[in-house]
Amino acid sequence: MNISRLARSIAESPTFALNEEARILRERGEPVINMGIGEPKNKTPITAILSSAARLSGGDVKYTPPDGIPSLKKAIIRYTEENYNRMASPENVIVSSGAKQSLFNILYSILNPQDEVIILAPYWVSYPEMVKMVYGVPVIVTPEDGSFHPRMEDIKRAVSSYTRAVIVNSPNNPSGAVFSNEFIAEIVEFCEQKKIYLIMDDIYHKLVFNGAKWEPAYKYTDQDIENTMIITVNGVAKLYGMTGFRIGWAVANRKLVEVMRNVQGQMTSCASHVLQAAAEGALNGMQSIVENLRLGFENNRTFIVNELQSFNGIRLIPPQSTFYALPNFQAYIPSHLAKDSVELSRLLLKKAMVVTVPGKEFGMEGHLRLSYAGSVKDITEGIERIKWVMDPSSPNEIYIGERKLVRDWL
Ligand code: PMP
Repeated sequence: MNISRLARSIAESPTFALNEEARILRERGEPVINMGIGEPKNKTPITAILSSAARLSGGDVKYTPPDGIPSLKKAIIRYTEENYNRMASPENVIVSSGAKQSLFNILYSILNPQDEVIILAPYWVSYPEMVKMVYGVPVIVTPEDGSFHPRMEDIKRAVSSYTRAVIVNSPNNPSGAVFSNEFIAEIVEFCEQKKIYLIMDDIYHKLVFNGAKWEPAYKYTDQDIENTMIITVNGVAKLYGMTGFRIGWAVANRKLVEVMRNVQGQMTSCASHVLQAAAEGALNGMQSIVENLRLGFENNRTFIVNELQSFNGIRLIPPQSTFYALPNFQAYIPSHLAKDSVELSRLLLKKAMVVTVPGKEFGMEGHLRLSYAGSVKDITEGIERIKWVMDPSSPNEIYIGERKLVRDWL
């Protein structure tokens, strides 16, 4: 088969693969609990529905400018002013089919083959693959102290003359960490000085809990959008639970946005007109939905943290944000149960019908990522099932769906 070496080397998205597996099992009637994918369960905000429905019922659904419809860009400019305290002009904004496409387009537009991008572990699974897809080289920097917080000295050591960008994702998927303001200030200063792009993936910036505070990176530079090395990425997926609408955006200097516009124009022409209308409706509508989502996840977080803290042998750095926790299950690996997080995750699916994502996928072997975007019932039952599989001190009988199961492997 004639398939390029590069394309062949790109890994399947593990979260989508696991999601599909869970869907198939559920269709077969299995009582699956999906703690794998991170997807808010809310209904789409009504203003998004009405605005896209109006576009549809008017029958005027056409190509849009490659960088997005002006009215949506206007709403993004207002969002940027309110949340980032920066005035962007329309030439600084590009709308894409999801934050994912924004990130890919940024990398495509700034990297030459063999250029390097610093990625901070634990990292979102798509960053290294995206860098590879544009013939770049991902350089992973891992905190050695077992924390989820990157250290400037490690980053400085990893930077070379090929480094073109650093990707920072705070609030962080998969750890739920929010990086300190000191760190953000330092990395901004470093990138401005070295002329390295600082890509801020802010997709979870509203989902912070228990007094943790997110600050925009712009706060730590005197440069305006035109001259700063900071690029920000955001979108409606986590902001409004509109994952299926696939609208994200980037804010960057005009030259870069112009190049990204050309790239997008050749690649997808533009994001869907109908879905751009939906995103505009959400951005211009009632914002209480954002706080409602945050409160729901904050509540779920309390449950998952309590459940995990009563779990013998696991180590947890409680998440301060997002809807993910990344507990360390090393005490159960290696053992006769599993030799790594991939096997452990498989075992949990097989024995207890719980979907988790192996830490290995995020550059953190020994951990499992658990999404707490589901219901409190699912979280409580999911952790109970995980305990049943792994913790000898938990009761060795359990009901999973209608079936009573007895543990005979510990
Ligand atoms: N960045 C991070 C860190 C994410 O977790 C996700 C979605 N899981 C995205 C970007 C992509 O967002 P979108 O759905 O808008 O493409």
